[in-house]
Amino acid sequence: MERIDVGVLGATGMVGQQFAVQLTDHPWFSLSWVAASRRSEGKPYREAAQWRLTEPPPEGLGDLQVQACTPGQGPKVVFSALDAGVAGDVERAFAAAGHIVVSNARNFRMEADVPLLIPEVNADHLQLIARQREGRGWRGAVVTNPNCSTVVMAMVLAALREFDLRTVLVSTMQAVSGAGYPGLPSFDILGNVVPFIGGEEEKMESESKKILGVLSGGGVDPHPMVVSTHCNRVPVIDGHTEAISLGFGATPQEADLRAAFNAFRGRPQALNLPSAPARPIEYLETPSRPQPRLDVGRGGGMTVTVGRLRPCHVLDYKLVALGHNTVRGAAGAAVLNAELMHAEGLLT
Ligand code: NAP
Repeated sequence: MERIDVGVLGATGMVGQQFAVQLTDHPWFSLSWVAASRRSEGKPYREAAQWRLTEPPPEGLGDLQVQACTPGQGPKVVFSALDAGVAGDVERAFAAAGHIVVSNARNFRMEADVPLLIPEVNADHLQLIARQREGRGWRGAVVTNPNCSTVVMAMVLAALREFDLRTVLVSTMQAVSGAGYPGLPSFDILGNVVPFIGGEEEKMESESKKILGVLSGGGVDPHPMVVSTHCNRVPVIDGHTEAISLGFGATPQEADLRAAFNAFRGRPQALNLPSAPARPIEYLETPSRPQPRLDVGRGGGMTVTVGRLRPCHVLDYKLVALGHNTVRGAAGAAVLNAELMHAEGLLT
């Protein structure tokens, strides 16, 4: 099969580098174009991207010259890891110029005609693309993936949605890589916990309801569950951990919830997409797991790990979940979105 040329907007940043890793040797996509700000424009990628990942920078990419984010240039399919301050205008211009923009940025996530996609959970929301083109007159499209802490919680909730989910309380312990580079000053985060991440709690609450919502005439009718979040930054490099309590219409059996986690699969697994983990959710029985250092890389960073399921005396049950914030929470999620779109004939 001939591979599809793709580009990355914001290729030099933390998520952009993760895109470079995820797209190297990809069986369907070939990364041929990288773009970023004026600071990086014209430089070779190896010089413009201050490499921060533990994986080595992909060979062959280093000589690629970083381009300006100019719509109409670059491949038809572009991933976006742009800073949210510029992503809105740039992505809109690229979609209008005929590009398919597979974005990580928050700017379009809550627009009624834009899919906020987790392929295992709401693959049918891709139908919004037709509405988007009709309403906006775009030749291209924008498809988004959720915020990095939302995706972990939303996958857990999706696995349990048959049980009449009503109430969700979550406290997050979020890694510093979620803030990009350089992120928080070491003085603020070493030996510390910062109980505020601007806009994060609102995103978790609104995005999860859209993701679990149902398509309707006006876009997506949000799931009626009530969600309350506390978001905290902790001194962990990669991996967002979430302590979640759940209330249901009628209390299910604990064994049924465990079975639902183990059985959870979606379109990516049915279609055998290249980035799909065999198990999107893995339940660990050891009481001290999941832990970011030990479990964040499961399924190539695409598996959400769950553990400590037990009764809750306030709601019905509580548990701990963990996901890789720059893989399942960003670049890996977008690549999986693009794979699903290709499998559904939406990229060509
Ligand atoms: P980052 O490390 O700060 O990278 C930002 C990127 O945007 C860089 O490539 C930068 O290019 C580019 N950029 C900044 N200003 C620009 C401009 N005026 N024109 C063109 N390009 C510009 O941020 P990040 O952590 O990778 O996050 C990228 C996006 O993904 C953000 O929208 C973020 O909210 C979202 N996201 C991040 C995570 C995570 O875990 N980090 C998870 C989910 C979603 P230069 O290098 O040239 O400045």
